[in-house]
Amino acid sequence: MKSTATIYIPIVMMLCMPLTLDKLDIAILQALMRDARASYRQIARTLRTTTPTIAYRVERLKKAGLLKGFIPVLDLESFGRGAAGLIFAKVKGNTAREIIERILAMQQVRGVFLISGESNLLIKVACKDLVGFQRFEEELARIEGLEINNVIMIIRSLRDEPGFPLEEGVVVELKCDYCGGPIRGEPLTFRAGGAYAFLCCRSCLQLYREKYRTRIKKLKQKQTN
Ligand SMILES: [Zn+2]
Repeated sequence: MKSTATIYIPIVMMLCMPLTLDKLDIAILQALMRDARASYRQIARTLRTTTPTIAYRVERLKKAGLLKGFIPVLDLESFGRGAAGLIFAKVKGNTAREIIERILAMQQVRGVFLISGESNLLIKVACKDLVGFQRFEEELARIEGLEINNVIMIIRSLRDEPGFPLEEGVVVELKCDYCGGPIRGEPLTFRAGGAYAFLCCRSCLQLYREKYRTRIKKLKQKQTN
C-alpha cells in the first residue's frame, strides 16, 4: 500500500490580518506536503537551519490554523479494484442543505464541490469496485430533490491534491495564548516544556509565565504529597 500525506490549508485564513509567511514558512510547508512524516531534524537539514527553528515555525503555523493536521492519502489503485468517479448533479429546492448534508455523510464521498453551470454539485466518489460504484449511484438517485446529470469514471489518477499553491507573503492570524487577542507582527514566545506559547505583548507574556509557574508549582506539590 502506497501512502503519502497531505496537509490541508484552509483558504479562509488568508483573509485574516497579521503574521506574514516568509520563505522559510513556505519551504517548511512544502517539505511537509512532500512528506508529512519528515522529522524536524530532517527538514532542518534540508533547509539548512536548526531543529528548534523548525519546531518553532511548525508550532506557529499550527497555532495560526494553517496546519490543520496530517492526513494519510491512500492510493486507491494500489488496493487493486478501486472504482472512482465524478458525479455532476443538481440539487433543487429548499431541501438543498439537507441533501448536501446527507451526501457529505456518505462514506464513499471523497469530495463535494458547489459548482457553476447546469449542474450545481460535483461529487467525487471512491468505491472498492465497480459494483460498489453502481450501488452508490443508485443510492444517490433515490435521493429526492437531487438530479444526476453526468457520471464520469476516473480511469487513472495522475494528480489529486487538495490545497493551493503556496506563495510568500500570505498573511495569517496568530492568537495570543494568554488573552486570545490577535498578535500583530512577530509574537513574543515562551517555551514551556516542549511546547511554545505565543503572546501578543509583554504583559501577556508576564502573566502567562506566572500562570504557568503557578501551575507547575501546584503539580510539583501534588507529586510530593
Ligand atoms: Zn495577549
